[in-house]
Amino acid sequence: MKPQEILMRLYAAGGRIDLDPEQPGLIVPDQVRSMIEGHRELLRASVDLPEVARRARIFRNQIDAWITAGRIAVPTVTISEMPFENSGGCVSCGARLDHGHWRCPTCVAALYEALRRQE
Ligand SMILES: [Zn+2]
Repeated sequence: MKPQEILMRLYAAGGRIDLDPEQPGLIVPDQVRSMIEGHRELLRASVDLPEVARRARIFRNQIDAWITAGRIAVPTVTISEMPFENSGGCVSCGARLDHGHWRCPTCVAALYEALRRQE
């Protein structure tokens, strides 16, 4: 299973990433706990948790600006300072990707967090 798929299952089950700057981590519902535990090292290697928090703020600001401008749907959120060297990379940061994905795992998590309404 790819990290993006693991993250989608985490979010579909109601989980999320705790963006606490002191101690970021996963909030894992019981129904996906064993699946997440089985892929913990893969997630650790592929999702940069402090970077998720930073990108989520950037994406949230881009989405808010889009909505404020009266546009429909959502923008293609991007990390502007990241080099866009390769076509076929992450649509948000340009990172190299496994075939079949639009975003890298860190951007997937950041977009989920940006779209999740803050309580
Ligand atoms: Zn990315």
